[in-house]
Amino acid sequence: MRKCRKCGKRAVVYLPQHRIAFCKEHYLEWYTKRVEETIREFRMFDREEKVLVAVSGGKDSLSLWQVLHSLGYHAEGLYIHLGIGEYSERSKAVCKRFAEERGLTLHMLELEKVIASVPTIKSLESRPACSFCGQLKRYYMNRFAKEGGFSVVATGHNLDDEVATLFANTLSWQVDYMARQAPLLPEESGFVRKVKPLFKFTEKENALYAFLSGIEYLEEECPFAEGASSLRYKRLLSQIEEESPGTKLRFYLDFLRRVRPMLEKGPALRPCKVCGEPTQGEVCGVCRLRERLTSKALSS
Ligand code: AMP
Ligand code: ZN
Ligand code: ZN
Repeated sequence: MRKCRKCGKRAVVYLPQHRIAFCKEHYLEWYTKRVEETIREFRMFDREEKVLVAVSGGKDSLSLWQVLHSLGYHAEGLYIHLGIGEYSERSKAVCKRFAEERGLTLHMLELEKVIASVPTIKSLESRPACSFCGQLKRYYMNRFAKEGGFSVVATGHNLDDEVATLFANTLSWQVDYMARQAPLLPEESGFVRKVKPLFKFTEKENALYAFLSGIEYLEEECPFAEGASSLRYKRLLSQIEEESPGTKLRFYLDFLRRVRPMLEKGPALRPCKVCGEPTQGEVCGVCRLRERLTSKALSS
């Protein structure tokens, strides 16, 4: 029987990459402290600021909202309704219930109303859904934050997400993408600050926090994510992690410490000619997408 590192009682959690076991109470304490330390270490935000937490209904983003709330930060939620049938309805319901039970403010944005639903776009675009869906989420999170007076957007990205992205970017040597991969992206020419306070936790650690603190979350994956290369990379990396615990965290922290400082920042940003959001070109990716959708809809 493993014992809690803090109190010696029977442990319910064992973290192989840290070689620590905890009881329920001390796991929640360890997790919460580690989030606070990460926020301080990267100067993500303080208690005077309004933080917009992007919530999907999954374990990561709801754990993030819960832990920020428990630490006394002013955190409001934003749920982006993607219009993916029952999956979107269920995830929306989970977010709504979470906010209501805790008396928190949840904002909603419907993609269908501002551009088109993910399935509609999917039928007209040849790119994988995850590619334009991610682009749209980032675009509308940023706009929503600015319009609502939030200085910072927080997402629930975990260590597995970050390592899988870094791995994919390394395989194709997308150095410009790597340069933008970080736990904190400062405010810059039309982009609000973006932070990932849970980037040091694995998916499992977030699931444990959610479970042990009584959060109801949606376990279902997005139906469009099936077959996505990121899931393949996650499986591969988890095999390596199992054989050598701690590999993922070391890989990512060493990237931040030793590689990222050598990468150059990409080209300067300027306002999109159509919508005013920041872009590297003349017209931003979302406005170009909107143009394509309009012309395809007209021609069909
Ligand atoms: P994903 O890209 O699905 O791995 O999600 C990464 C992060 O983006 C999540 O932890 C959330 O913070 C945010 N996110 C994902 N889906 C949504 C959504 N529908 N609405 C708002 N935020 C989302
Ligand atoms: Zn204990
Ligand atoms: Zn634009």
